[in-house]
Amino acid sequence: MPDLTDQTCPFCGPVKTNVIDSRPVDYRGVRAIRRRRVCPTCTHRFTTFELSEATINHGPTIEELLKEAKIDLLKTLASSI
Ligand SMILES: [Zn+2]
Repeated sequence: MPDLTDQTCPFCGPVKTNVIDSRPVDYRGVRAIRRRRVCPTCTHRFTTFELSEATINHGPTIEELLKEAKIDLLKTLASSI
């Protein structure tokens, strides 16, 4: 069952995007959730990398994580994963 959220599409803005794949990942000890999404408006597919605010403050920098994960967007979760 697809999960609809209010994740912003990097191509056409704030729309509800469809999660087509979701899996936990670990980058240098930083736990996160990597989601593959598709925008129903422009049909572009993109990846988001979601981690907790607490993780951001104690792990590698955001830039390092994004580069290592080769992903497009970062989403910060309010609660811990
Ligand atoms: Zn779009």
